[in-house]
Amino acid sequence: QEKDYQFMLRTRNPGGFVPPQLFLTLDKLADEYGSNTLRVTTRQGFQMHGILKKNLKAAFAAIIKNMGSTLGACGDVNRNVMAPPAPFKNKPEYQYAWEYADNIASLLTPQTGAYYEIWLDGEMAISAEENPEVKAAREKNGTGTIFHDKEEPLYGTYYMPRKFKACVTVPGDNSIDLYSQDLTLVVITNDKEELEGFDVFAGGGLGRTHNKEETFARIADPICYVDKNDVYDLVKAIVATQRDYGDRTDRRHARLKYLIHDWGVDKFRSQVEEYFGKSLAPFKKLPEFKYHDFLGWNEQGDGKLFLGISIDNGRIKDEGDFQLKTALREIVEKYNLPIRLTPHQNLVLYDIEPKNKQAIQKILSSHGVIFEPEKIDSLVRYAMACPALPTCGLAITESERAIPGILERIRALLDKTGLPNEHFVVRMTGCPNGCARPYMAELGFVGSAPESYQVWLGGSPNQTRLALPYMERLHDNDIETQLEPIFVYFKQQRQTEETFGDFCDRMGFDAIREFAANYESQ
Ligand code: SF4
Repeated sequence: QEKDYQFMLRTRNPGGFVPPQLFLTLDKLADEYGSNTLRVTTRQGFQMHGILKKNLKAAFAAIIKNMGSTLGACGDVNRNVMAPPAPFKNKPEYQYAWEYADNIASLLTPQTGAYYEIWLDGEMAISAEENPEVKAAREKNGTGTIFHDKEEPLYGTYYMPRKFKACVTVPGDNSIDLYSQDLTLVVITNDKEELEGFDVFAGGGLGRTHNKEETFARIADPICYVDKNDVYDLVKAIVATQRDYGDRTDRRHARLKYLIHDWGVDKFRSQVEEYFGKSLAPFKKLPEFKYHDFLGWNEQGDGKLFLGISIDNGRIKDEGDFQLKTALREIVEKYNLPIRLTPHQNLVLYDIEPKNKQAIQKILSSHGVIFEPEKIDSLVRYAMACPALPTCGLAITESERAIPGILERIRALLDKTGLPNEHFVVRMTGCPNGCARPYMAELGFVGSAPESYQVWLGGSPNQTRLALPYMERLHDNDIETQLEPIFVYFKQQRQTEETFGDFCDRMGFDAIREFAANYESQ
């Protein structure tokens, strides 16, 4: 008899979009076949754990038939395309970001029919009409030597050397961690708020391996500006460059970031130009990027409201008096609300009629769900952890299950060191793959041995700068002893309103280590 193999299933939701019908389907599938929980991922999709092999087909088919998909959520192809989750109907740039996240997802979808043959016995999915311009762009071979064959024109027989991560955002909005992606498009509009084109970044990526210096986290470089009429050709040219020149002999060295690092940006640009068939235009100046989480009640600009709800580590569950899963089901069922999952593992319910605000608040409160962001400790609000143990096979140590206790201990330590209202971005992962993007945090914990973490310091509060490794192995028991001197030094030497990450970056690790070495706990 075959063993009860169990699987994790991940959905594809460009821009984090989850229509109500899909949400209710996933909610039910989690109970029928999964672990009774849904987990919002850091790429705006859902993960469902614990699905037995014999139930996979039924689960996939239900998702596909209810306006969802899992195609390209894993594997060496373009992954879920991210976009800011804010449904601002009066800010056209946000609408363009959603539209182009969908379009890029569609442009880079694998064309094989195998997915439907396996999970739907060959039936095609009932899905939204594809944008004809995107279809034409996908099928067109007007530039360079990009195309391979009919079935898989862009990916060819061997697909990509490694996963590929893309996002679309608007100037100033870094809710999608743009520097950590293989490819980022930033919407550029004219004075009339009409779409003109996109600024393009490429070569970000965070995954690395401990003790292998040749692997590293890297932030994306500005590459060029592209007119909206050429954007699909440019995206294809970048993907084809990585497809043809990315390292296929060593998976640890296969992401686009290594190709750009090894070649330099100029050589990368030249190769992209060759496939693109035109010169690349210079990057346009952008304002500073800020992190937004869109929590709480907000006007969406068309008379309706949206509500961003914080979810600890993205886990939608019922546990004791905390009944988030039930509350969301009740709200979505009753008001038929669409959802946008956020890159910070939270969710946004939108298109809410103002007259339903009170009733929605009542449902949340009566199920123990806090919906007022000011009632959440900011350390918790801005923290993120990957699932790690027991569900991730790559985990070296705990992450999701450990972070609540660790944040409480950090809060107590901040109180003790005279920093009672301080908060900063803490991120934790169970291994150096970095799924919760710890290398962009102000304080990052990266699993390095059982109950131990490599500590990263110096990222910025808006995730615009890479942190650096401060300590190779910090045992969970030593968190207070090791962090206390750093917090005391921060309190003594910080500049007005300087954040913890900016402070660590300004002082440098030599000074911090020297202070810590001479520090005696009070
Ligand atoms: Fe990702 Fe590693 Fe965490 Fe697994 S343990 S979820 S691979 S970061």
